[in-house]
Amino acid sequence: MAKLQSTNPSSDYSVIDEVETSTPEDVKAKVVKAHSAKKAWRELGVRGRIELLRKVSAKFTENKERFAKLEAEEMGMPIKEALEDFDFGVDYLNSYLDTGEEHLKSVVTLENDSERHEVFKEPYGVAACIVPWNFPFANWVWQCGQNLVVGNTIVFKHSEETQLCGKLIEEIVNSILPEGVFNEVYGNGSVGEQLVNQDVNLVCFTGSSATGIKIKQVTASRLLPVCLELGGSAPGIIFEDTDIDEVAGTIFTARFMACGQMCDALKRLIVHESRVDEVIAKLTSLIKEKKIGDASDDQTDFGPLVAGRQLKLLEEQVADAVSKNVKVIIGGKKPENLEGAYYEPTLLINVTTDMRVWQEEVFGPVLPIVTFSSEQEAVEKANDTKYGLGAYIFTADNERFMRVAHQLESGMVSQNTSSYINTCNPFTGYKMSGGGREHAQFGFDEVTQIKVIARQK
Ligand code: NAD
Repeated sequence: MAKLQSTNPSSDYSVIDEVETSTPEDVKAKVVKAHSAKKAWRELGVRGRIELLRKVSAKFTENKERFAKLEAEEMGMPIKEALEDFDFGVDYLNSYLDTGEEHLKSVVTLENDSERHEVFKEPYGVAACIVPWNFPFANWVWQCGQNLVVGNTIVFKHSEETQLCGKLIEEIVNSILPEGVFNEVYGNGSVGEQLVNQDVNLVCFTGSSATGIKIKQVTASRLLPVCLELGGSAPGIIFEDTDIDEVAGTIFTARFMACGQMCDALKRLIVHESRVDEVIAKLTSLIKEKKIGDASDDQTDFGPLVAGRQLKLLEEQVADAVSKNVKVIIGGKKPENLEGAYYEPTLLINVTTDMRVWQEEVFGPVLPIVTFSSEQEAVEKANDTKYGLGAYIFTADNERFMRVAHQLESGMVSQNTSSYINTCNPFTGYKMSGGGREHAQFGFDEVTQIKVIARQK
């Protein structure tokens, strides 16, 4: 039986444990099992499912410390951020449980003396759910929470980088839900590929745009519904009227949280030319205050990247920029005294749009900075990407904010904060960011099919 090793990126990649890779027969058997459980799960009704899922949520909370420690060890997320990831995930899960009944109500579209027409929201059946590694708990919640509430059964694959987090999720969820409702498979992309080629009724995928394209191709040939939450390269525009001291913390967190490995992280900073020196000085001083080190240490602000392959990619992206005469303000290399997948938080200026750090998604602690002189130039630079997930606009002028927000090719935009991330809003993107929708009514709609029933009186 093939095994997949889980390693610790805060060390010299020492092996933490290993997990058996699912065979094609295992994957098929899990899908069959999910089909056999779907009728009873649906018939339990939304209230019955929510009751059980509240117990799942409580059980996760009992295991908070255990989960956060594992995230730190396996994925390299600093333990203080891992604890936040956990609370963040639980808040979202509870929001689905608190609002699910209301969102799944049928809608009467016509009623008169002779007829009543009603639109019902029904589960699809079996959902194949595949996630990346960057928020090992929240990734699961965002993708599986609403699926379970609406009555879909699930075959789930966590990332090969976070198999042990996947094991813990399986242990907790299956200690409460009926057998067959939640099923998990383990392995790399080829196991994911086997899963989406099975007899499933819906595919929910969170990950890179490159994999999203493959999934779209596979699902298109069977006309399967698919929810794609993909990569991003969010712009942050700083206008000349911004209170830099006020927003510097937001900019710093939006770029550097989780060591820069967030889909909607602020990945390209576009600053009015009159304020760029101030912005650089402020961000540099924030970086200097932070501690890089072992993710399991509660004093650590910057852990390692998830794996050696991410470090290599980041080094190549920065080397390309350096070869094209970028100026490194701070960072730009691996810290000398640390073994593991570490990279120093980095600010780059003199960035040009032909550089990989501008054109590609940069999944690490590197911030390319460009300047602008007019609002139109800022908008053009912000939209100069194949992605369209989040966007951040920093300005004291509300009218300008609204005008620019409407011109950005982005699914989510906020002013001076990251406030678009809220349980009441969809998480969604334009262009190569996928266009899937998670959370609130938008997310429930994405994982249900609708049926019109027109009856006579
Ligand atoms: P990835 O696409 O390499 O892998 C994601 C998942 O897909 C993994 O579980 C992987 O095993 C699986 N997979 C790989 N090839 C597959 C295939 N052919 N068929 C089916 N499954 C396959 O992405 P990654 O490097 O793990 O994650 C980082 C990416 O995820 C970044 O682009 C990031 O922006 C994106 N992301 C997006 C969101 C969002 O909500 N939009 C959230 C988190 C991360």
